Amino acid sequence: MIRVKRKVIPPTVSCRWQTPPDESGRGVIELTTQRVGPTLYIVQRIPTDPTVAVQAVTFTNQSNGEKYHVARTVEGHWSCTCAAFTFQHEHLRHACKHCTAAAAIVWPKRELKYVEDTCI
Ligand SMILES: [Zn+2]
Repeated sequence: MIRVKRKVIPPTVSCRWQTPPDESGRGVIELTTQRVGPTLYIVQRIPTDPTVAVQAVTFTNQSNGEKYHVARTVEGHWSCTCAAFTFQHEHLRHACKHCTAAAAIVWPKRELKYVEDTCI
């Protein structure tokens, strides 16, 4: 019997601007995952202490108002305040859609490889 190794498919999120960010760094984006489907978020860049974080952004879920803070530290680590990141990030590298989306849309140099290449 031949054993076929299954390829591990990392989680993906596709993102599409509904409203491109204005001068203050505020916009509306749609994040879509296979599990949850499309969700609209208000994205807002927020000022950071440059000795701690490179940049930070908040994602506010338009339907329920829940707000998540995503930041990238000067060491290059990602953090998010959502439950998925808090509980899963040790098993799944960078595994939350907010960090993944932030990498794609906020920081031009994409560092999270599994982002679907659908950002506009
Ligand atoms: Zn998150």
